[in-house]
Amino acid sequence: MSKLTGKVAAITGGASGIGLASAEAMHAEGATVVLVDRDEAALKKIVARLGERAIAQVTDLLDPASCDAMVPQVLEKAGQIDILHCNAGTYIGGDLTETSPATIDRMLNLNVNAVMKNVHAVIPHMTGRGTGDIVVTCSVAGHSAIPWEPVYSGSKWAITCFVQTMRRQLFKHGVRVGQVSPGPVISALLADWPEENLRKAKENGSLIEPEEVAEAVLFMLTRKRTVTIRDVIVLPTNFDI
Ligand code: NAD
Repeated sequence: MSKLTGKVAAITGGASGIGLASAEAMHAEGATVVLVDRDEAALKKIVARLGERAIAQVTDLLDPASCDAMVPQVLEKAGQIDILHCNAGTYIGGDLTETSPATIDRMLNLNVNAVMKNVHAVIPHMTGRGTGDIVVTCSVAGHSAIPWEPVYSGSKWAITCFVQTMRRQLFKHGVRVGQVSPGPVISALLADWPEENLRKAKENGSLIEPEEVAEAVLFMLTRKRTVTIRDVIVLPTNFDI
């Protein structure tokens, strides 16, 4: 039997990059995966490719009604949620004064508020069953003050703190909470990185693949239930924080 047979996992941002790699890794281990994303066309193709045990959930996490409806809709489709991987996120670099208030709202609404609201929505289900795993995709930017991305870095520090407080609150109810914190990962999100940083990262080999982050997520999920992994920091070998 595979390690996640019989489990249902909901993965936000499941149509691309880290979320897709995480969904594929869990699916390969026998889980039923619910891919949550706003990109309906991409979801359709992925679900058709994965076949059995793959479900699409079209949700725009920046739309408050759509965000709040996500967990109930997944429960209606899949019956249970054993694993919630809060992964969807967006990136913005640059000085704070160059960042519009609307962009700050969008960053915090997706990277922070949607994560907190999705966790809030799933808690009664998981604590009611006395079991569950919540994993959040954070970032090295949530451990280190990166000067060229104050809003992104701020959003990820908020999430690091949130995860660690929820971890301590929920363990007594059988629910584990952890996070994975990658360095730069080759995905669509890097298109918004400063060009100069991307060029340097490519030159010195300091980029990793989404699949390498997914391995860390799987590592956390497949420990014995008595063990919680707080955070796996996944960095290219030559990366320093
Ligand atoms: P990605 O752009 O490849 O994937 C993001 C996915 O989220 C896309 O499928 C997109 O459609 C979806 N999404 C975006 N806005 C959404 C919304 N409003 N509602 C629903 N879905 C939405 O990016 P990625 O690199 O895989 O990023 C995933 C997570 O990893 C993010 O939280 C990001 O901050 C984090 N992260 C990325 C890197 C990196 O270098 N790529 C490094 C550290 C952390």
